[in-house]
Amino acid sequence: MFHFNLLHSLLRSHFQFNFLLLLPCLLLLCLVFTGPLIAATQISDSISPEAETGRTNKEALLAKQHLVVTANPYASKAAFAILKQGGSAIDAMITAQLVLGLVEPQSSGIGGGAFLLYFDNKNQALLSFDGRETAPAAASENLFLTAKQSPMGFFDAVVGGRSVGVPGVIALMWQSHQQYGKLPWKTLFTPAIELAQQGFIVSPRLAQLVTLDQNKLGQQPSTRDYFFDLKGEPIKAGATLQNLAYADSLSIIAKLGKKGFYQGRLAKAMVNAVQQHPTNPGLLSLEDLGNYQVKTRPNICLPYQQIYQVCGMGLPSSGALTVNQILALTEQAGLSQLTADNPQAWRLIGDASRLAFADRARYMADPDFTPDYSHALLDKTYLSKRAKLLGRNIALSDVQAGELSLAPDTVTQLASQTSEALPSTTHLAIHDRDGNIVSMTSSIENAFGARLMVGGFLLNNQLTDFSFQSHYQGQVIANRVMANKRPRSSMSPTLVFKHNKPYMALGSPGGSRIINYVSQVLIAHLTWQVPLQQAIEMPHLVNQSGVYLLEQDTPATQWQSALEKLGYKTQVKPLNSGLHGFVITEHGLESGVDPRREGLAVGE
Ligand code: GLU
Repeated sequence: MFHFNLLHSLLRSHFQFNFLLLLPCLLLLCLVFTGPLIAATQISDSISPEAETGRTNKEALLAKQHLVVTANPYASKAAFAILKQGGSAIDAMITAQLVLGLVEPQSSGIGGGAFLLYFDNKNQALLSFDGRETAPAAASENLFLTAKQSPMGFFDAVVGGRSVGVPGVIALMWQSHQQYGKLPWKTLFTPAIELAQQGFIVSPRLAQLVTLDQNKLGQQPSTRDYFFDLKGEPIKAGATLQNLAYADSLSIIAKLGKKGFYQGRLAKAMVNAVQQHPTNPGLLSLEDLGNYQVKTRPNICLPYQQIYQVCGMGLPSSGALTVNQILALTEQAGLSQLTADNPQAWRLIGDASRLAFADRARYMADPDFTPDYSHALLDKTYLSKRAKLLGRNIALSDVQAGELSLAPDTVTQLASQTSEALPSTTHLAIHDRDGNIVSMTSSIENAFGARLMVGGFLLNNQLTDFSFQSHYQGQVIANRVMANKRPRSSMSPTLVFKHNKPYMALGSPGGSRIINYVSQVLIAHLTWQVPLQQAIEMPHLVNQSGVYLLEQDTPATQWQSALEKLGYKTQVKPLNSGLHGFVITEHGLESGVDPRREGLAVGE
């Protein structure tokens, strides 16, 4: 542990100085300190208040048997206790998610959706569960258009009932528990019910986000009553907050199972809140809730550097397709020959991302409603052709989606569409003692979702992940709104296999930037051998459409002139990821927790 911590603090202090110039030296240090990492049960209890920069220090934890990494200490500890009781990774995921819905309500909850990647160790099988929200049967492509047929303002669409899709989290938990649960369903609800009854300590991040959002949260009676005191003041960090309505809702679902949520009292309350919203009503109906189905999707996997397979969630998430395109393009363009202190490395990463995002905008949407181009997008010949575009020294001047080598009549003309999801969402990763793995990203879309609270939980605004317009210059947009369709996502729950064995679990919130955060960590760890925790701590550099975004208050800002010389515009921004995961080494399970959030790894 000593060596590891020493290296870690060196990395941290040097990263503050100039991480990129020092990376080669740091990599050398990694090689020197390859002595065995001593297994330890190191549970850091401290939730330090977020510093002004929004960062809290995180230490990598090394566990032997089982490990939980989530965005909140309450959730990690509750899930870990489930593992200790003999629960499976799926059991622990359910408990973690139910607690997160209470203590990190801005990011995810039972009123939202999730994508779950699950490795079943006994059967050596990888499964992708799609618990994405679905558009109501009554939805049409006009959903987000004004009376004048122009797109609504983003928050005009978000706040209220209009943006609420059929939630998928409970169905996903139910189905995965039926298949892989060990402890009784009811048992998994107890920690969240008790915590909601007793009250939890409001974290600095939750308090800060409520304050920032008071204009919206404070105007909706259901959220005002919960997140504000009687004088109308937003809840404060350190205060104890009870949620008896949530405890009550969970008790119903604990007793009745999935139908306790999709039918009966809770279902009626959700439909009522959506349809009766006074200014922005929506279309969610009891039939929509009753018809909701979790879908198992084909996994998206691509080899990386011969020894790895990088796997993730397929459509309707664009996550794994786009992440894998970025990895394949940069690999073929020779990224492994370049170190992280070379501006050309960031040109390759930035332009590969621009090419992949152009394809994403044109071709990726719910495969049950639009043609599925997944195979064509990861085709070897296609990717080599795209990678050749990177063979230059300066930034690409013009980036377009590629022409896919399909028979012409199989390609619908699809106009490009980009929409920037604003970051909330949460990622958790769990390894149980039987070797089963959960990598799950869960979301209610925007922070606090639709700002509608029912039964102590927030309803999602996931439908605003659809394109607001259905056509562009006469061409149809793949990700347009359609009845019963699932909006395209960027969520990228990832599992990496090394020599065909599970090696790494990873994911993040961050809207469409999730794809860049996850790709950067994969490149840093798998190509540049930066230890996972340090790879997560590296400042973010993100380029989706030509402007290079550099993470504010980090050494990334020092790249401004080098990148501008290559032809990019640059912009300094907070880039708030929440990267969580672990790697499986010969020494054990080694965690990675994002210092930009309040997460915690717990294991032994
Ligand atoms: N709604 C986004 C998606 O599904 C996630 C939002 C976020 O990460 O903040 O891609």
